[in-house]
Amino acid sequence: MITILPEFYDDFYCLADGCHHSCCKGWEIGIDPDTAELYQSLPDPLGEQLRSNIITSPEGNSFRLTADERCPFLRQDSLCQLILDAGEDILCDICTNHPRFFVMAGDIELGGAGLSCEKSVELLLAADTPLTFFRDDDGTALTFTQVLQLIGIIIPPNKLSFIPDISIPVNRSILDRLAETEAINEQWTSDLSSLRDELPLSADRLKKYAGEYDPRLFNRLYQYILYRQLCYADDFGIDRLTDYACLSAQYIFCAAALRGDLPEQIRRWSEQIEYCPENVELLLTETVSASYHL
Ligand code: SF4
Repeated sequence: MITILPEFYDDFYCLADGCHHSCCKGWEIGIDPDTAELYQSLPDPLGEQLRSNIITSPEGNSFRLTADERCPFLRQDSLCQLILDAGEDILCDICTNHPRFFVMAGDIELGGAGLSCEKSVELLLAADTPLTFFRDDDGTALTFTQVLQLIGIIIPPNKLSFIPDISIPVNRSILDRLAETEAINEQWTSDLSSLRDELPLSADRLKKYAGEYDPRLFNRLYQYILYRQLCYADDFGIDRLTDYACLSAQYIFCAAALRGDLPEQIRRWSEQIEYCPENVELLLTETVSASYHL
């Protein structure tokens, strides 16, 4: 099987206690069956500590989060107690792999590092050259167009890059559309609402940002967003995928224009949309009521 990875994949490492938005907070942490079986067999005291912090539901096993939604094994200094006590091999699949993702596009595997992680965002934005990928088996470098050719997908040249739209009605319709997604937390709802309130008076800020932003970075972002969803080309059609990537990049453009801090706007969008399969599906279907289409 051929696996494709983005150019920066091998540079990824977890920031651990240097991370401002640990993925060990605020997320449900599912435990895969093999690891759950291992945890059941471990001797005390570690085994007992693990078993008393597992919740079992019809969906499977997960860690019992603390009242402030932290992993019970995340220490106050943001290091993982399990790794410190027993090494990385004790981690469940999701903790071992996150934020790496792997999806299948036909018989080609597409991997990457997800943008809900600030280190992944940093790596994506670290270069202003066209985004490239490589084959994991022989190291061959690939442009985004060559990745598409390998998968057998054709995208018109005008949909391979991102051009921002500074019109208030377009940006308003995007914010309205994102408001239809299931919110990851109250902060997202409140931040989206304040963006919508400010938007009518933000024409100057959008125009200013359009004069300052780096189109090369936004093209990397747009193509990377699109790349992750190429597995859905058969289900939704390529036009829906490019609409989704455009809408997402446009939202990030608007949020960065009004709030600054492009990396953080990307990370927030990713945890709200990209890491919620229901929200991705909602934005990929045509049943959403907003009228925004590029
Ligand atoms: S979000 Fe990224 S850098 Fe932060 S703890 Fe998770 S994997 Fe590490």
